[in-house]
Amino acid sequence: MTTIVSSNNSPDTQAKSPSLFADASQRLENALQYVSISEDAIERLRYPRASLAVSIPVRMDNGSLKIFTGYRVRYDDTRGPGKGGVRYHPSVTLDEVQSLAFWMTFKCALLDLPFGGAKGGIIVNPKELSKAELERLSRGYINEIADFIGENVDILAPDVYTNATIMGWMMDRYSTIKRQIIRGVVTGKPLTLGGSKGRDTATSTGAFYVIQSILPKFKINPQQTTVAIQGFGNAGATLAELLFQAGYKVVAVSDSKGGIYAPRGLDIPSIRQHKNSNKEIKAVYCRDSVCDIVEHQTITNQELLTLDVDVLIPAALENQITTENAKDVKAKYIFEVANGPVNSAADKILLEQNIQVIPDILVNAGGVTVSYFEWVQNRNGFYWTLEEVNQKLKAKMEVETQQVWEIAQKLQLDMRTAAYVHGLNRLGEAMGAKGTRD
Ligand code: GLU
Repeated sequence: MTTIVSSNNSPDTQAKSPSLFADASQRLENALQYVSISEDAIERLRYPRASLAVSIPVRMDNGSLKIFTGYRVRYDDTRGPGKGGVRYHPSVTLDEVQSLAFWMTFKCALLDLPFGGAKGGIIVNPKELSKAELERLSRGYINEIADFIGENVDILAPDVYTNATIMGWMMDRYSTIKRQIIRGVVTGKPLTLGGSKGRDTATSTGAFYVIQSILPKFKINPQQTTVAIQGFGNAGATLAELLFQAGYKVVAVSDSKGGIYAPRGLDIPSIRQHKNSNKEIKAVYCRDSVCDIVEHQTITNQELLTLDVDVLIPAALENQITTENAKDVKAKYIFEVANGPVNSAADKILLEQNIQVIPDILVNAGGVTVSYFEWVQNRNGFYWTLEEVNQKLKAKMEVETQQVWEIAQKLQLDMRTAAYVHGLNRLGEAMGAKGTRD
């Protein structure tokens, strides 16, 4: 059963209050006074192009039938096909998926990728499903949205709690429906099914290049820098390790169950090794697979956000820093690896405290950038080495970081507004060239 949901600013009956999308849109409104694009283009950008709600029947292992709710939102496709991940999470709402699709639109424009913005989600706790149930759910989702996506229409990718295996199932199901192999409809696939080298680490590698480009501008060097990272999933854990290897002192990390803090610094490779085999974060130091607990404090996710560190990296979910805790944040720099971890009201408080927020649409754009590389490789049928991928990723992240920085300097703006100005200029130009299709 498929429903096209009418596109308006707050169509979601189950939206978290206040609406995440209304808050996300505030960033667009803040940037408008610094761009000269047509009123028509601005008005178009205030609304998602299309939102699809589907119900997905899944035969559970015990023989019962369970119906899951899923969404796919195409926010804008002026610059190219919609592009964005699919999130599996119990708290997914249409309001959230629309916000994530909105951010994808600006992210792709900011990185100058030939894509618009889209996003998908299913209301599910994937940890409660068996592998076979998860596969049937993923294939079932594609059954319901197949007419809404395509390699030149809207391209899927991983997001929170989805991974390469799930992307492989989705690509396979779509190809079965279309009676031909269509690799480019999904990115973040397993290498053997046409995935790109470096896609699994791309979000963190891209964030690392942004951090390495920004901090020297403030005359900060790794050896003197303490870092706290909220979220130890694919993005947070890989970035923690990259920063550790580069000499940063990572003093705190956390996952959904809570975190650890050690002012002297944590041995990130040991913690990853322990998490991989035991599915929990522990302050350990491992040598030859013997792990010893080191001195540390256990902290909550909330406590991690207000630690006295130089750099804070929220790499979990949205709405982590709000008016509730923004005034307690002590970090001098926040790099948003998650999408939307700081809300718009918190932005103002952080700005007053002179805290630099480097925004999600720049910091976490490495993921979609390598997704673009994967899509290009799928279309060419010719695959790049990891060195080629990372070298192209580095070049792109550095160029766009520098451009956002220059806009911020020239117009005396915070980095978030500068990033939106940069994305908006590109979107406005494309919309001007195309017209508003009325
Ligand atoms: N889910 C990732 C993001 O939010 C990647 C999207 C993609 O690769 O299309 O940027």
